[in-house]
Amino acid sequence: MSAKEIAVLEERMRPGRSSTGGFLSHGQSLVAVVEQDTQTLVRLGLTHERLANRLRYLHLASRKFESTGAPILGRFEVEVVHFCGRQWCPFMPAPSRGGRLPCGYGWTEFRVTNLASGEFVYVTGLHPHLIGDHRFFEGGPYRLDPEHAQRVLELAPHEDDLIRWTTRVEKPTSWSWSASCLAWDGALWQQANVRKCLDEGKRLEFAAGFEAHVLGDRVFLCARELVSPRADFVIDGLPLYLDVLCGGAVYERRTREVEEPDLAQIERLTRKFAVDSHTHGSPYARPFRPPWETDPESSSDDLA
Ligand SMILES: [Zn+2]
Repeated sequence: MSAKEIAVLEERMRPGRSSTGGFLSHGQSLVAVVEQDTQTLVRLGLTHERLANRLRYLHLASRKFESTGAPILGRFEVEVVHFCGRQWCPFMPAPSRGGRLPCGYGWTEFRVTNLASGEFVYVTGLHPHLIGDHRFFEGGPYRLDPEHAQRVLELAPHEDDLIRWTTRVEKPTSWSWSASCLAWDGALWQQANVRKCLDEGKRLEFAAGFEAHVLGDRVFLCARELVSPRADFVIDGLPLYLDVLCGGAVYERRTREVEEPDLAQIERLTRKFAVDSHTHGSPYARPFRPPWETDPESSSDDLA
């Protein structure tokens, strides 16, 4: 990467540019931050990939895999503390409409608490990407300190504990909105895929001036006047949710690729944390004391 390219990135990462708080503070050097954190990781016997992998799992687990309230991996509590709005990865220019997709983005800030030690760390939804793909822990207000993160996450030096992911193709559960236009006979009518639906598709009339044309994985809905159907449609066996329509709208039947962690690996890690705390004692853990249980000695002082 040339000095000029680095200067462009640094400029984009300053406060008030691609984010309010900034990814770097004023005068901070991107290369210096990355180099120093990389040296820290080497000293800790840790890799960017391992740290990012663990954060990614904890984030996903908090949203999806654990709804039981049980500690994640038998050890961690993850709470979303803040919705930040969509934040693009600053290593690429902000995506323009119809332009290329960003290399990464995040929505949330979450707190990971180690239930054995009571220590916690704040992590953003973008951190797994920034750390794993760009080796960047940030320098601004959302910086994640690698040494602190290792302690809270109990990542032992030089261990192979990567959570592996598999990809599953999920069938669509409803028609997904793809495009719409407000005018009857508007620009959508000229699109080749819409013309094909109109010419060759199966026509379904719901009311006068309100119809659908279905062709393969695409449906084109058109309404001459404003309609607000108070019912869900089932088209070719799949529901289509529509609140209101005037003009045209394209819906598609899309398959999604869903990433899932290797459950055997998760179980192995959960067992490891259980063994660490009950048999050997974790190298990092102190007994967890909930905030409402104060130290008996200090509380007697308070009462006196
Ligand atoms: Zn990126």
